[in-house]
Amino acid sequence: MFLLWQHNKTSYDSVDAAQDAVKDPKVTTKESPFKEISYVEERSKTHHYTLTYPKTGIKAVDDAMKKSIYAKRDAFLASNATRFHATVSATTSGHYISFLIKNDVFLPTKQVESSVQTFTYNRQDKKLVTLKQFIKTEARLNRLSKEIRTEIQRQNDHLQWSAKKIDHLTQDTWETFADFGLDGKNFTVYYGPHTLANHLSVISIPITAINKKRDTTVFRLNTHDKKYVALTFDDGPNKTVTPRILETLKKHDVKATFFMLGSSVEEAPELAKEVLKEGHEIGNHSYGHENLSKMTGVEAEANINKANQLIKNATGQEPLTIRPPYGARNAELEQLSAQPMILWGVDTLDWKTRNAASTLKEVQQHVYPGAIVLMHDIHPTTADALDAVLTYLQQQGYTCVTVSQLEGLQ
Ligand code: ZN
Repeated sequence: MFLLWQHNKTSYDSVDAAQDAVKDPKVTTKESPFKEISYVEERSKTHHYTLTYPKTGIKAVDDAMKKSIYAKRDAFLASNATRFHATVSATTSGHYISFLIKNDVFLPTKQVESSVQTFTYNRQDKKLVTLKQFIKTEARLNRLSKEIRTEIQRQNDHLQWSAKKIDHLTQDTWETFADFGLDGKNFTVYYGPHTLANHLSVISIPITAINKKRDTTVFRLNTHDKKYVALTFDDGPNKTVTPRILETLKKHDVKATFFMLGSSVEEAPELAKEVLKEGHEIGNHSYGHENLSKMTGVEAEANINKANQLIKNATGQEPLTIRPPYGARNAELEQLSAQPMILWGVDTLDWKTRNAASTLKEVQQHVYPGAIVLMHDIHPTTADALDAVLTYLQQQGYTCVTVSQLEGLQ
């Protein structure tokens, strides 16, 4: 403290200010967490901005980053905003470094509007990496789009985002997810202000989700020439509701997927057999609706195997897929499981509302091409709603398929 005070007491202070006046912006170089990279700080007193950005020493890389960062600065200079701060942070994933430049623009209303710019740098070949270079194939892009969509739907508690908006913001194009970052475990997408929300939004999914085996031949989302939807019925078979569901599906000549509980199949094996005989698909929904993510890997595997076996005993076929109760899964469970885990994109909330009109309304409001729709064949109100749901879907030009057909497993 004393040293600083003494320093300020000298006339150096005014020399410094004079130099600043001449050299504006003032540029200083700082250390970064990476030995071959430095951070450059550029501070302009006259124009009220501070920029911090990485410098790799590779001209093409540095020029590209600077160009994009300066474009933001110039937009600020041309605006009526009062201050501009760009700060840098970084995460690593193997030989990639993801730089995140956070731009804070101070508006005359004193509000701060934040947006981000991302750069992913390959330390090995000393180049910036685009989304396309990282994701490589259209099938993986499609999988990425589906996983991001599912994550947004999962966060859509208050139904603050319409299906149409989510559909638009998760289109499987290379531009949609251009602002991305990697941190070793997660793939993160950034949505700027006034897109997903008024503020900056951050959506992360595990990188492993993009690499699933089942990403080979998925139906493309947003193909407006063909609209597929997969209806799924959980928690059965149920002696009173399941036969009613089967009858309505038959009336509309539609195939669906039933995620059955091993314990319920044990009680009504003939019903499980009937479902398969009608051409529908059966999936595993655990033995007795346990939260598999709270078990050890060995316990979860035993639970899944028990249900697989009961379904096979009843129907002659082992289920192709698993839907973990509550959608609860963890990385260990996903690795252990030979069957793909299937969640959903549209929750009809039939389990909560127990009202046929509400169930229909949820479908009408949230269905999108490629959606997996969650319902339950244990509530009579779901059976009440189904005829109208199928009529609506057919009017809208949807073709109902099973989950495996939708996911390209069959
Ligand atoms: Zn369930």
